[in-house]
Amino acid sequence: MTRTLTSVLGNSQRLDGGAMFGNAPKALWTRWATPDSQNRIPLSCRALLVREAGRTVLLETGIGNFFEPRLRERFGVVEEQHVLLERLDELGAPHDQIDIVVLSHLHFDHAGGLLSSFDDGAQLLFPKATFIVGEAAWDRARSPHPRDRASFLPALNEQLAASGRLHIVPEPAPGAPARTEVLGDDWCFHVSHGHTPGLLATEIAMPDGPVVFAADLIPGTPWVHAPITMGYDRYPERLIDEKTALLSDLVRRHGRIFYTHDPQTALSSVEHDARGRFVATRPLATLDELAR
Ligand SMILES: [Zn+2]
Repeated sequence: MTRTLTSVLGNSQRLDGGAMFGNAPKALWTRWATPDSQNRIPLSCRALLVREAGRTVLLETGIGNFFEPRLRERFGVVEEQHVLLERLDELGAPHDQIDIVVLSHLHFDHAGGLLSSFDDGAQLLFPKATFIVGEAAWDRARSPHPRDRASFLPALNEQLAASGRLHIVPEPAPGAPARTEVLGDDWCFHVSHGHTPGLLATEIAMPDGPVVFAADLIPGTPWVHAPITMGYDRYPERLIDEKTALLSDLVRRHGRIFYTHDPQTALSSVEHDARGRFVATRPLATLDELAR
């Protein structure tokens, strides 16, 4: 079966560098990202377009352009347009022809792109898509904790629920991958709870090894180093354990990781270095129909 992967950059954002690197000191994280005058670092929101026999699947939609101008400024969204929609049009995969959208979790910088621009009323796009979300992620989005409440969009949740096209992936047994008949046997999810409950890291089988859309489990190449976590993570130690398990598995199977928030790198392999640490190798800035 023919399957192509294409990276699709949506709207960018800027978030506080300290918050992005958790307990890592600034003297360390400024080696990986350069902060602006407000201490914010540039972050991409990169989606993955998967075209295969008879259907088109999009992994995540990024932050989009739904914010009012004041919040767009706060989160450093510099583009005036809904960039993802424009790029999907250019790629011949307009939003209204996407069959499935997989959402790792419902934080606004991963799912906000489901909505039209602020000026267009922030209405749910992707009119024929099935929206795939993990059970615990959906529960958390509807019943957030005070610590992460601001990361969710109640109006989006309502529109997803009302669409009749929301597909909830049941929580698997601990440590087991989740699957759904909607995607089939070539796809599975690594379910993680360290960043937010029920995050789905999607694994896609490719001829030369699996590709995993790691979402906020490993948002960019600096976080491949196991001890590096985000201040946004709910349980950093749990996240490190989950990340270590995934990376060990991918080293063994010659897998690759797709990064949503890394401005420079869309995909890399992962290996152990001489000291046994995980390192990102063979980085690619874009995927232009990888692994046809
Ligand atoms: Zn998140």
